[in-house]
Amino acid sequence: MVEILEAVHRRLSLLPRRSGPSVEVLKQALEEVREAVEEVAPGFLSGATLPPREKLLEDAHRLRQGEVPEDSAYAFWLHQALRLISWQADHGKTSGEGWPERCPECGGFPDVGYLDADGHRFHLCAFCDTPFRALRLGCPYCGETRADQLVYYQEDPYRVYVCRSCGERLLVQDLRLKGELDLPALRARAALYALAEEKDVEV
Ligand SMILES: [Zn+2]
Ligand SMILES: [Zn+2]
Repeated sequence: MVEILEAVHRRLSLLPRRSGPSVEVLKQALEEVREAVEEVAPGFLSGATLPPREKLLEDAHRLRQGEVPEDSAYAFWLHQALRLISWQADHGKTSGEGWPERCPECGGFPDVGYLDADGHRFHLCAFCDTPFRALRLGCPYCGETRADQLVYYQEDPYRVYVCRSCGERLLVQDLRLKGELDLPALRARAALYALAEEKDVEV
């Protein structure tokens, strides 16, 4: 399973980025993602259908804010398409105490991260891959800062941060244990953890 996810992410990382956003650009991006995924993992998106234009745009904006659609295949598809489109940061929401952390470049939320050589934690934007320094103590999704609600466990060379308040997990690679950051592999593993959470499968 993790091999397929990794192949999908590796293939998707080769797609060119476009400027936008507009419905046409979004539709092109969705089509490119579908073709690329179909190449390496036929049937991977077969369960997903696109909603009408209005709903599609609404879902896209919500997803950018961190509200992920329930249908996981559709959510994946839309997310990967949005990754191909450049957005300007929404300065209404910035990083800081009590606020969910957002990418300084595009305003997106983080999906994975890494610990650098000094053990400092960085998060990577789920849309444009920009790394940004993580709050020392705080859930990037709900802003929780109480230490007893924030735990992590180690699965070398990864570390999984879990927020007990909102239930979100964030996977980071410890570069002190594995020096080369491999984003497709990291994202594949993160997706596997998310799946395991949903369906209780072995990772
Ligand atoms: Zn970003
Ligand atoms: Zn949280």
